[in-house]
Formats: sequence, structure tokens, C-alpha cells
Amino acid sequence: MKQYELIVGLEVHCQLATRSKLFCACATDGFGEAPNSRICPVCTAQPGVLPVLNAQAVELAYRAALALECRLNARSIFARKNYFYPDLPKAYQISQYDQPFSEHGKLLIRPKGAAPKTVRLTRIHMEEDAGKLLHEMGALKIDGSLVDLNRAGIPLIEIVSEPDIRTSEEAYAYLTSLKEVIQFVGASRCDMEKGEMRCDANVSVRPLGQEKLGTRAEIKNLNSFKNVKDAIDHEFRRQVELVESGGRVVQETRLWNAEKQATVSMRSKEDAHDYRYFPDPDLVPLTAAPERVAALKASMPELPSAMRARFTSELGLSEYDAEVLTGDRALAAFFERAVLEAPKAAKTVANLLATELLARLNAEGKGADAAPFPPAHLGRLAGLVADGTLSSKGAKDVFARMWETGKDPRTLVSDLGLSQVSDDKQVLEWVTQALAANAKAAADLRGGKDAAIGAIVGAVMKLSKGKANPALVNKLIKEAVKA
Ligand SMILES: [Zn+2]
Repeated sequence: MKQYELIVGLEVHCQLATRSKLFCACATDGFGEAPNSRICPVCTAQPGVLPVLNAQAVELAYRAALALECRLNARSIFARKNYFYPDLPKAYQISQYDQPFSEHGKLLIRPKGAAPKTVRLTRIHMEEDAGKLLHEMGALKIDGSLVDLNRAGIPLIEIVSEPDIRTSEEAYAYLTSLKEVIQFVGASRCDMEKGEMRCDANVSVRPLGQEKLGTRAEIKNLNSFKNVKDAIDHEFRRQVELVESGGRVVQETRLWNAEKQATVSMRSKEDAHDYRYFPDPDLVPLTAAPERVAALKASMPELPSAMRARFTSELGLSEYDAEVLTGDRALAAFFERAVLEAPKAAKTVANLLATELLARLNAEGKGADAAPFPPAHLGRLAGLVADGTLSSKGAKDVFARMWETGKDPRTLVSDLGLSQVSDDKQVLEWVTQALAANAKAAADLRGGKDAAIGAIVGAVMKLSKGKANPALVNKLIKEAVKA
């Protein structure tokens, strides 16, 4: 049997994080609200209305494009994409066609178990979303369909990749990186459950070594990263089996059925000319003035990949910790401000953040900006661990109180009497007592049974009520048995 290569290009729609729609003042918060509660004459296409472009949407779209290393075109055109469907009241969608606002980007992806790789982006364009057909409302089955236009006119960007993706793992990694970057620059919240990020996959196969691309099928209805991965794997097998049995892949749109774990044919795929694109005469061309682009570039935050590199090389964090911290912009900012307070204890700050803080934030469904204490407090807590004032157990206790009270850790350490005892004389006194009271363990230790140290350390901790500095205790016991 011939070997086949999988070729995938992805088209991802992200909802821009604006408060109002792309061409009218209707709110974008209609998810889960009453149908048609976020509509006006513009987004329902009443006669005589005119669209007005949302400046904030343009700003966010540009930020996404710059973060994805795309070129911003000096001039771009909004075009009408004509098709009839009940969820589209104008019978055309305002989109961009041959002159999109942005082209030629790239995204570094890190597929599981493989080397990092760059996927080229063909283009990013702006467009409005359509409405939604309802076939049921809650438990109520509707006889026929009802139309909800809350989503009609919601601002989207469509990010189109080149067919550079070769495995379903790469597709998964692409979506992960894309979401990370887009969220990081604040262009979209990318909440898939609310339809704020959607993905279509163009999948084809070709015999290994062949240059010409095979006919592709477009797969829709992919509402999770896992679905994208599963659908691509399934579609690869389907196309290879089809070709091997003498059949031919046809250009069509297929729907992913997650229950059946299969794609099913929906319709033959339209070509661009079927949509009768033409420039929308109601909208002037969009221009990206050089000074505006320059200002925007200057305001772009450091991106997660650059930040990860800096955290590992300059602060000595592990890849894993750097990954956790840069997974969310607010968390990364919290970490950076905390480290200012304890520059030499970055690892301890990262540990406290990744374990204690993140566990509690996640449990309460909060972001780092909702932490009940300022970042400096976490930095100070790490500093207290680093200078030996607090044991790691003590740090956990103080952290718990910080979470409840928001108080400064230094105040809490003295309030709770948690300071570690690092005074040599005091600790040596406890060590001497512990050795005398545990003659067998002491003899074993002198005889070379290193494991016996545990019993002596335990006895010292009991005598000191847990306050003896463990590193010092270990050191003094070893010195005492050698003497
Ligand atoms: Zn409206």
C-alpha cells in the first residue's frame, strides 16, 4: 500500500472582544440571553440603514494581526459576500475578500512529542457574524425554526493558515498557540463554549512524494480542539481508504459528528465566485496610517513565547513553570510584579504561584487580578522562605492566612509566631537533647545507617514545635554524630 501524507489548513474565527457589534451599537453580550434582545434596525437590515465601523474592533483586529506577525495592509476593502440563508437578514455578509486588512503572518507551534515548527498564515480578515437558527428553546421543541439575531453583526476575525499542517497533533498545537497569542493581546476571549472561537479544517491527502495537492474537503462543526484533532484523524483515514479503493475525493463541506466520531457530507463546496463578492458601497476603504500602526506596535505587550524564553534563561525557571505562568497574561503580570519584591527568589515565587495561588484561584474560578492580596505580598512571602525565616510548611500556613486576610506576610509571621529558629545555639541544644533521648537511632546513625536521621530530625521538630530550621537541624545532627 502507498504511503499518504496528510495536508491540513485551518480557518479560525475569533470574536473580537468589543462591547458592541461591528457596524451598530448593539451589545455583544447576548450569549445565553433572550433571543433577539440585542438587535437594532442595522443588524436586522431594515430599509434605509447604514453600517458604521466599530473603531475598537479595528484596533483589536490589528493587535491580533501584529501579534501573529502579519503585514497590515495600508488599505483594505469591505466586501459583500452574497448568499441567502434565514440567519442572514441582509442576504449578504459584510466581509473582506481580495483586499483583506492583513496578510502573510506566521505562528510558532509546539506539537506534542515533536520539534517546534512555524505555520505560515495566509491572511486575516474582518467580518460580521450571522444569526442563529433555533430548533428548540430549552426543553421546548419548536415546530420549524426560529431566528435569533443576537449574534448577527458580532465582530469576527478569520485567520486563514497555509496548508502547512501535517498531523492532527500539529493542528492541536496550532490552535493552542493561536488561542494563547490572541488572548494574550486582548483581541479575543476565545471562549469556545460561547462560540467565540470556531474552527474549520481543510483536509486533503496525497501520495508521499507527490507535489500536487489532493482535492480537499472542508470540515465544519468543530467546537473543541479535541474535535478538530479527532475529525482530522478520521478524515485522513476516510480519504486514504477512498483513494485506495479506486474512488475520488470530492470538493465538499462535511460536518463532524462527535457522537459517531465521523464526518458526514453536508453540501458540495461553493467556490468564491458563487458568492458574487463586490465592494460594499456603504463603507469607505479602511486605511492603516503608518503613524497609527507605529503607535500600535509600540503598545504591543511582550508575547508569551518571548516571555517564556526570558523566564527560563534570565530567572532560571523550569520550562514547565514558565509555561504555566505565561498561560495567562494577568498571571504573568502578577508573577513579574511579585519577583520585583524578591529578585533572587524567582523560583520560590513561581512555586508559590503555580501551587498555592493558582489552586485557590482555579477553585474559585477567578483570575490573578482578583487575588485578595497584591503581588508584592507573594514576593515578600517567597523572600521569607529564601532567607530561612519560614519553612515551606510555614509558607503554606502564611499563604492560607494571606488568602483570608490580605495581610502582609511579615505581619502574619509575627502574629502567628511562625518564624523559623535558625539560631545555632538553640538548635544545637535541641539536637543534643534529641540524640540523648533516642539512643538507638543515634547509635544507628553513628554506625552509618543514614536513614536513622529521620527519627532524630522528627524529635528535634517536636521539641522545637516545628520551628527549627530543617536545613540547620540536618547539618547540626550530622556534625554531632561525627564528633
Ligand atoms: Zn444592532
